[in-house]
Amino acid sequence: MRLFYWLALVFALIPLIFGWLSISHGSAPIGFGMWVVSGWLVLSRLTSFISGEESTWNKQMAMRLQSVRNECDGDNPCCDLALPLWEVTQVRCRTCGKNLLNEPRPDLGRPRSDGFFAGSIRLLISDGKPIVSSEEE
Ligand SMILES: [Zn+2]
Repeated sequence: MRLFYWLALVFALIPLIFGWLSISHGSAPIGFGMWVVSGWLVLSRLTSFISGEESTWNKQMAMRLQSVRNECDGDNPCCDLALPLWEVTQVRCRTCGKNLLNEPRPDLGRPRSDGFFAGSIRLLISDGKPIVSSEEE
């Protein structure tokens, strides 16, 4: 996933190049539109890299989730029928309700009640980061 996160920069170069060509030799509004679209992604990735912010879904998050899963399947589960469920603000056991991990769920573009266009704009603005923070932060 980390590779795909940074691979988006490579694919953002394509509209940047064609946008520059369109500005200099063709239609300026189309070229400017291509620059705005791909420039937003490049700025988003660069600002998160400069600020030291990790990508939305990373290997450490996957390892923490897997350790919760291993605890529930292993010798020391929270209850007899441990079913971890990743809720909006934390990972909680569906059966006993115990908080297993304080990890807010990233917004990965699932269908929501706000519809396709509002959801797409929300996902573009938040870049997939969780909208709410953990309860103990
Ligand atoms: Zn439980």
